[in-house]
Amino acid sequence: MEQIVFEEFNLVPLKGVVVFPSARTHLDVGRPKSIKALENAMATNGLVFVSCQVDSGVSAPGQRDLYEIGTVILIKQLSKLPNNTVRVFVEGKYRAKMTKIHDRDDFLSVSVEKLSEVHQDELFSVAAVRVLKETFDTYKKLFRKLPAIEIEKILLETSAGVLVDKLAQVLPIPIEAKQSMLDILDIDERIIRFTKLLNYEKEIALLRGKIDHDVKVAIEEHQREFFLREQMKVIQKEMNNGENENSDSKELAEQITAVKMPSTVKKKALKELERYKLVSQTSPESAVIRHYLTWLIDLPWDKQSKAKIDLENVQTVLDQDHYGLEKIKERVTEYLAVQKLTKSMKAPILCLVGPPGVGKTSLAKSIATSVKRNFVRITLGGVRDEAEIYGHRRTYIGAMPGRIIQGIKKAGTNNPVVLLDEIDKMSSDFRGDPASAMLSVLDPEQNHAFSDHYIEEPFDLSKVMFIATANSLSTIPGPLRDRMEIIELSSYTEIEKFHIARNHLLNKQIKEHGLDKAKLTIADVAINEMIRHYTREAGVRNLERQIGTACRKIARKYADDPSRAYTIDKQNLQELLGKQKFDYRTIEPEDLIGVATGLAYTAFGGDTLQIEVSLSKGKGHLVLTGKLGDVMKESAQTALSYVRSRAAELGIDEDFNEKLDIHIHVPEGAVPKDGPSAGITMTTAIVSALTNKAVSKDIGMTGEVTLRGRVLPIGGLKEKSISAHRAGLKTIICPEKNEKDLDDIPAIVKDDVQFIFVRDVSEVLKLALV
Ligand code: ADP
Repeated sequence: MEQIVFEEFNLVPLKGVVVFPSARTHLDVGRPKSIKALENAMATNGLVFVSCQVDSGVSAPGQRDLYEIGTVILIKQLSKLPNNTVRVFVEGKYRAKMTKIHDRDDFLSVSVEKLSEVHQDELFSVAAVRVLKETFDTYKKLFRKLPAIEIEKILLETSAGVLVDKLAQVLPIPIEAKQSMLDILDIDERIIRFTKLLNYEKEIALLRGKIDHDVKVAIEEHQREFFLREQMKVIQKEMNNGENENSDSKELAEQITAVKMPSTVKKKALKELERYKLVSQTSPESAVIRHYLTWLIDLPWDKQSKAKIDLENVQTVLDQDHYGLEKIKERVTEYLAVQKLTKSMKAPILCLVGPPGVGKTSLAKSIATSVKRNFVRITLGGVRDEAEIYGHRRTYIGAMPGRIIQGIKKAGTNNPVVLLDEIDKMSSDFRGDPASAMLSVLDPEQNHAFSDHYIEEPFDLSKVMFIATANSLSTIPGPLRDRMEIIELSSYTEIEKFHIARNHLLNKQIKEHGLDKAKLTIADVAINEMIRHYTREAGVRNLERQIGTACRKIARKYADDPSRAYTIDKQNLQELLGKQKFDYRTIEPEDLIGVATGLAYTAFGGDTLQIEVSLSKGKGHLVLTGKLGDVMKESAQTALSYVRSRAAELGIDEDFNEKLDIHIHVPEGAVPKDGPSAGITMTTAIVSALTNKAVSKDIGMTGEVTLRGRVLPIGGLKEKSISAHRAGLKTIICPEKNEKDLDDIPAIVKDDVQFIFVRDVSEVLKLALV
């Protein structure tokens, strides 16, 4: 018979922890009584009895709240943690059964009975251990978070009881199961029960995995379904939206049916409309389709004005709107007469060429009025991209039709007069050649089905009357020029400008500024002053602007005192327009040596030009100043060579070339000048300087000179003679070949100025040198 040992230990009830004999573990203890119990035990042998609470919710457990069987443990180490708890490292010693709890005021103690394990069959336990280990092998695969190193060590244990106890300590098994392992004193039974427990846990784990998986799949499927449902809702909403937008798409549908358009276009529009109904109103796609549809609806596929060419009416309208320009008006009328006869637009395109402000645009406008067509202006200046003519394909963001189609829409009819403004200012680069695109617009073989990239459907341009304008012919590409009938407009004389101002511009500006014609008088001198000293131009655009400025200033005064009448004259002009802006050269007061007057053709019309020559001691160097272009420099050299070769004849010291440097200067120094037409003027100035003979102050001259002294023709005689007249010159010497241009010279100029046509420089010198 074994002796029953009773002992008394301090008691520490545990929550959710079972401590097995021979296991080592940490315990965190918080209850003051338990801490006291531990501290008290530490003071003696360091042994306490621990037992697990049946219900860990009880805060002050009594005997019935604890499992009967617990463990006597040895406190190896005790450390205090911050929040009034202690951590003890303990080692289980043996199983014991609690008999009675005693209250020791500060802590509890307990009387226990030491329990001994029983062990029967050695062989059996060897076999059982093997089975346990195999079972554990499969078990551990399912629980990946086990403390691997610790378990390795445990598995080396040979004693079956210790092995089970130690494993039971560390494995994550339910606390009740652990307690039952503690309860079993028969080692063989314990090992069997433990193996069963592991098997059971293993099965549970497997099942859990399956359940987890099934649950997850179920959730995923549920989510997918949810997702699809949501998508369907969005689609339905969009479809409904389309239908909800009934009013908008209905309106479009009505417009499409109402507008007369070619059947192919109508078909396309309806197809796009269907697409429009399907896309969401808020999507960018919707805006794109709508934009396209509005274009199709707005284009004048079938709208046209009742155009009619009545030549008498044409003449009247042109005369009404424009002063002078007799020849031009005649050409225009002829052109329209041909159009009337052929009843087609296949005739060449009219192209009005001339400096700015000479009335090209307004002439085209008048033509439109006179033939009862709408008028639209398309500016081509600076166009370098083909897409500006043809438009962008609809796939581009912000795509638009090209300028032609935009113009047609603006005109509102399919047979307007379309003014292609500044057709000479188109340039081509890598983005394509807009000039060749224009060609297909103007070509009667192609333009009955003009295909804009944006519109996609062909538009008939064959009824359109195109009129082009350009500042200069030279920059219009050849093929384009071939398609055009060129009408050239030249600069206006001061007198023409005066009449235009008096008869047209004034009335226009007075009306535009809301003034009363009866109460505003403008003196002739004021108009002339404006022409001379406030503008420098070939046309009358700035003149119109200056008149506008004057009217605006008057309108301001008029607002203060409407009863007063106002007069603009030379005196108050400065007050209205500020200081004079330009001054024209007038003739010199006396004949000068080494200075000759030339005539220049500029962008503003014509101007006179003084050429000065001075001599200094030197070695025959020629100095040229005044921002001369290459052609002008060469013509100076030619003039000098001519003089050298004819020195004897001209009565000049033959070796002047070795003793003198010649300096030719053309004021104004900062204004670039070029061209060959100053040849005879330079020759005259050089000879004058070398012979010390003065040049007549009343003579102006223009003409190219050759080495042999021949005088070659020049351009812009009209403009040049107008400027000569303005400067007060009495005689103009010009090349014989230019005699044909005399017809163009305004009568008033011809009345005051004598034209002398020459063949050779010697004639010029005879006339000019006094
Ligand atoms: P362009 O197109 O040649 O640059 P515009 O047609 O714009 O010139 O002409 C500028 C202004 O001068 C317009 O108001 C126009 O009516 C006016 N104008 C030009 N020439 C005449 C003219 N011969 N008679 C009346 N007004 C004219």
